[in-house]
Amino acid sequence: MSPPGLIVDPFRFAREAAVVERSRPVVDFERLAGALSDSAGTLEFRVQGRQDRDGKHWLDLSVAGTLIVQCQRCLEALAWALRVDNRLLLVPEDQELPEQELQEDGWDCLPAGRQFDLLQLIEDEALLTLPFAPRHEDCCAPSGSDGGGTTSPFAGLAQLRRSEGRG
Ligand SMILES: [Zn+2]
Repeated sequence: MSPPGLIVDPFRFAREAAVVERSRPVVDFERLAGALSDSAGTLEFRVQGRQDRDGKHWLDLSVAGTLIVQCQRCLEALAWALRVDNRLLLVPEDQELPEQELQEDGWDCLPAGRQFDLLQLIEDEALLTLPFAPRHEDCCAPSGSDGGGTTSPFAGLAQLRRSEGRG
């Protein structure tokens, strides 16, 4: 059985300027965890409802956490900092999306009914933000080759593992 969602009436949520601020282990988000090389870690998120002067309903969303993805160069684990800040305009499911507004930057339209799972939304936003081909910043660089830049602890770990494998 899936863990219980976080179901709200999003339009009411916006009208009442409600706020939800929580943290959930990554492993609770099944689709997201499936896309990662390790489901360790926690997602922290905040959803703020808002209604503007035109009566439009909004959800302001931020999600943060550290996800374990796979470096596409050395195939080792890579700690990747997720950060999503988005503004979502709620559009009733039976209404057409306003075409001209789809062109706007900085926010998205979100078709929604009277029952809406905020956790699904958090998971969708996190999935959309996952890097396509993540790499360590200084992946596999031989030490000292970059003229004395900082070396991440993960790169060091990767080198250690390789030398162990050969010895
Ligand atoms: Zn790497």
